[in-house]
Amino acid sequence: MVDKNCQSCGNITTEDEYLVCSAPYTAMSVGRCPSCFANDRYPYQDLVGACWGVGGFDLCADWFQDLITSNLVFCNKTKKEFIADVNKLD
Ligand SMILES: [Zn+2]
Repeated sequence: MVDKNCQSCGNITTEDEYLVCSAPYTAMSVGRCPSCFANDRYPYQDLVGACWGVGGFDLCADWFQDLITSNLVFCNKTKKEFIADVNKLD
């Protein structure tokens, strides 16, 4: 049995509990612990990168804006901080 790190929160997860699934905003898959899977939590930097790829928060589809907003709660980030992180990629 190999323990893995959740790609969203970093918590150690046993291989049995580790859930790999596709992310809706990218072609890449993401491995998550049961808690992040249940809460639809994604890796923060992935969201920043995907948002940057779209061209900014305001250009993201409504469902993606909702996904980002709900994820920011877990990351202890404000929308302003998120947008600043997106702009850092420019
Ligand atoms: Zn997790």
